[in-house]
Amino acid sequence: MIWNETIECMEREEMRKLQDIRLKRIVAYAYHNTPFYRKRMQETGLTPGDIASVEDISKLPFTVKQDLRDNYPFGLMAVAMSEIVRLHASSGTTGKPIVVGYTRKDLGIWNETVARCLYAAGVTRNDSVQVSYGYGLFTGGLGLHGGVETIGGTVIPMSSGNTQKQIQLMHDFGANALACTPSYALFLGETIRESGLPREEFKLRVGMFGAEPWTENMRKEIEELLGIKAYDIYGLTEIIGPGVGCECECQHGTHLWEDHFFPEILDPQTLQPVTPGVTGELVFTTLTKEGMPMIRYRTRDLTALHYEKCPCGRTAVRMDRILGRSDDMLIIRGVNVFPSQVESVILEMPEFEPHYLIEVDRLNNLDTFLIRVEVRPEYYSDEINKLLALKKKITLRMQSVIGIQPEVKLVEPRSLERSLGKAKHVIDNRQLV
Ligand code: ADP
Ligand code: ZN
Repeated sequence: MIWNETIECMEREEMRKLQDIRLKRIVAYAYHNTPFYRKRMQETGLTPGDIASVEDISKLPFTVKQDLRDNYPFGLMAVAMSEIVRLHASSGTTGKPIVVGYTRKDLGIWNETVARCLYAAGVTRNDSVQVSYGYGLFTGGLGLHGGVETIGGTVIPMSSGNTQKQIQLMHDFGANALACTPSYALFLGETIRESGLPREEFKLRVGMFGAEPWTENMRKEIEELLGIKAYDIYGLTEIIGPGVGCECECQHGTHLWEDHFFPEILDPQTLQPVTPGVTGELVFTTLTKEGMPMIRYRTRDLTALHYEKCPCGRTAVRMDRILGRSDDMLIIRGVNVFPSQVESVILEMPEFEPHYLIEVDRLNNLDTFLIRVEVRPEYYSDEINKLLALKKKITLRMQSVIGIQPEVKLVEPRSLERSLGKAKHVIDNRQLV
């Protein structure tokens, strides 16, 4: 099922032409309406006339999160505040929140792109969707909400938290789809398992999970736990919120809605474009947004793009799973470590629950690297030898995947804190001087 076939299945050449026209327009618009962009372009000796097509995009200066902070709260708006009908702010995973503003037209674009996501995941007007992303300044709740209304589905606006009530209403209302973070989906799944409510009495079929990195192994875990198909949905506040892209039924890559959000992948060191298929930093230019256009916004998310047509019929570019943010990457004893690598190892081993916490510190100038991981009840033993053998097994596996040896601490089932929104997997206590 395809929400907007004309766009989602457009031939690449035609899409390029549309992007050319829209890029030219948005650059001129940003130049004339946002002093910040005008100044940036003037500093590099650029005028809007220098941008004739997407080929010219690399001439444009980048925008980074710090620019949004420096212009807090409304300095990057391209319209008068009387045109702004909604404000949102990022959840501030990595520092002080940043604020974004939407015009009525922007909300329409957002609804459209989330509608495409829902259809890609097989959700239609006949479905009810439990939205368990947080409502409020965070874009997750209201973003999904608007999309479900747009396709004519039934929204169940639960927001996050109150987990017992979540599963009771999911059961009673017969929600067909669930939207939340993957870590919260796990928690909901565990709670259902423990509640005694028979899984057959749930009507859940589809999950749309995002807002934080997760792995293929985590997908399998959630799909089994909840008995659903789980789709990856991607987005960020600066660009619009959730719904910048989503997986289709093929579950091999996130289709990005590139008629609105033009993606580039750059080598994070040189900032030069990489060959399609190679991993680098994702950079977006919003092609249509009025309230707060973003020109070459550096997301810090690491991924790769694939331009071959998808078996689902869509030509919209496909993005690999986000490996992590470049600022999530830990450098431990000189080795690059992504929390997603740790997650992947834990989830491929049946003995462990998908819950873990990485703690890094520095002792006598040497990095310490501790991973706490929950053992499943059926493997949690009183026999010290069994636990030691298990610990050895996971330590060796971690070492072979990550390249350095962590200290692994096996903890009791249910002892690590569960997350209602974005999970916190890393505590880095190193004081770098
Ligand atoms: P914050 O920056 O405060 O976390 P956002 O809610 O805007 O606020 O977070 C957007 C970020 O969340 C993205 O840049 C990305 O790092 C992460 N993210 C969102 N969706 C996904 C996803 N499906 N997979 C991996 N990471 C995701
Ligand atoms: Zn597809």
